[in-house]
Amino acid sequence: MGELGAFLKIERHGVPYRDATERLTDYEEFLVDRPTAELAEQGARCMECGVPFCHNGCPLGNLIPDWNDLVYSGRFADAIKQLHATNNFPEFTGRLCPAPCEAACVLEIREGDAVTIKQIENSIINRAWDEGWVLPEPPQASALTGRTVAVVGAGPAGLAAAQQLRRAGHEVTLFERDEAAGGLLRFGVPDFKIDKHVVERRVQQLVAEGVELRCGVDVGVDVTAEELRDEFEAVVLATGSRVPRDLPVAGRELAGIHPAMEYLYVRNRAVAAAQAAGTDDVAAGAITAAGKHVVVIGGGDTGADCVGNSLREGAASVTQLELLPEPPRQRPDAKTPWPLWPQKFRLSYAQEEGRATHKADAAFSVVTTRFEGTADGGVRALVVADAESAPPFGPVVGSERELAADLVLLAMGFLHPEPELPDAIGLEKDPRGNVKAGAYATSVPGVFAAGDCRRGQSLIVWAINEGRAAARMADRHLHAIAHEEARELVMSGNVSPADEGPEGPPLHTSGGMPAGG
Ligand SMILES: Cc1cc2nc3c(=O)[nH]c(=O)nc-3n(C[C@H](O)[C@H](O)[C@H](O)COP(=O)(O)OP(=O)(O)OC[C@H]3O[C@@H](n4cnc5c(N)ncnc54)[C@H](O)[C@@H]3O)c2cc1C
Ligand code: SF4
Repeated sequence: MGELGAFLKIERHGVPYRDATERLTDYEEFLVDRPTAELAEQGARCMECGVPFCHNGCPLGNLIPDWNDLVYSGRFADAIKQLHATNNFPEFTGRLCPAPCEAACVLEIREGDAVTIKQIENSIINRAWDEGWVLPEPPQASALTGRTVAVVGAGPAGLAAAQQLRRAGHEVTLFERDEAAGGLLRFGVPDFKIDKHVVERRVQQLVAEGVELRCGVDVGVDVTAEELRDEFEAVVLATGSRVPRDLPVAGRELAGIHPAMEYLYVRNRAVAAAQAAGTDDVAAGAITAAGKHVVVIGGGDTGADCVGNSLREGAASVTQLELLPEPPRQRPDAKTPWPLWPQKFRLSYAQEEGRATHKADAAFSVVTTRFEGTADGGVRALVVADAESAPPFGPVVGSERELAADLVLLAMGFLHPEPELPDAIGLEKDPRGNVKAGAYATSVPGVFAAGDCRRGQSLIVWAINEGRAAARMADRHLHAIAHEEARELVMSGNVSPADEGPEGPPLHTSGGMPAGG
């Protein structure tokens, strides 16, 4: 374990960010690494509890006390082995996870005192990449099965599934509709939260391990569902949950009102194009916030990323609206006691930037009742009202007012996966429209589902977990096929009329093949 009693004398040092006004001038990551000595101190605070609640808090079951201790002792090379044992992509979660593990840390019983688990995780993997310890791990020739599996969707769930299946020895083809792999990590989450080279080097690791990556292929259109089923012995669907929740009020059809992902795709592509051209000048793109009064409807991660991008583009003002009431500042023990994830107020990085520049603000308990337009069909304003405090959060009579806006971004979450491909394969869905796959196996044998398309819009850590779990189930299925085939070969050898012929048993029943595989 770390240092005995260290948590009593060493204070928690939270994750440091670059200065809020300075970081708005570029698209570079705002997370700052801590020096190794400070990290060792933070690792020393871990008490290695007899029952480490953080294990349960982490959806991946990361072995947190083990690597805290290894970082405390400066054994980073061992720490990354522990970390990779449960997490394919710790640099994704180390940068982007909300860290439910920290909410479940025993030190967090004293609120705000948890071990800085996420920061330590990120530093271990950053160090591992810097040292050249992260290498492709292709399967040994003796482990190759020759079994074919398609993974559809190269977000974190699909990437994790593809890596696990390849390392298990199968022939893996990873289909991706976009021009590059990464899913929401590539085209939703902005560069200042995760630089895209961090995503790309993992994609290249998969390719070097032998995963065949086919980008720009819309499965269901470019490859039909039948072709997919014919060509592959197993399929893992990891297509995300991409149907956005809409706001069907009067004026919704006005120009300048967009689902958040339309804007975020444009921004991420613009940053990628600038990087490719070697310039810091990021072009505006088809949807731009530059010089505009922007209203973002929705108070979650997606909304925050719209605010952060709008500020970097030079919006005149940005207002983020949330329908629900403002949560309490402290953990509400009656509702979400330790070790549960506390439903409390957290200042987003984007609102921190907004406050620093006086350019952005947020308001809770606000409902939009209609949009007002200009003569040429563009949005001019929202009509909003105070929202009642209980569902369905209707407008409080007499509280209506106008809010000027010439760009409105709808970031109210996602309903379910796009239905076309699941329907074409004939998959059952759950009542929310997600692919029904209780233990990752869908209603169609040989087809599995993982990530947001199975559980609804969620978190990266869950996507990785689900990709790993679905890969395990697909692997079992592929081994079952092999087993069945081997059994049939032996059986047919025993009963086939060819056995009776002068030429002896058929060649395909080799003497060394055990019955049942
Ligand atoms: C803007 C935004 C910010 C977020 N920020 C965070 C954060 O900070 N931390 C966090 O933990 N979570 C965050 N999330 C949530 C997180 O990104 C998702 O939960 C996670 O990416 C889900 O992974 P996935 O692999 O299931 O799906 P996705 O990442 O959505 O990937 C699905 C992939 O499937 C592809 N695809 C879909 N249909 C087809 C088809 N027919 N053929 C081929 N390819 C197809 C898509 O193009 C996509 O690449 C954020 C979400 C959004 C929208
Ligand atoms: S993946 Fe998330 S929950 Fe798990 S240890 Fe890392 S930060 Fe914590």
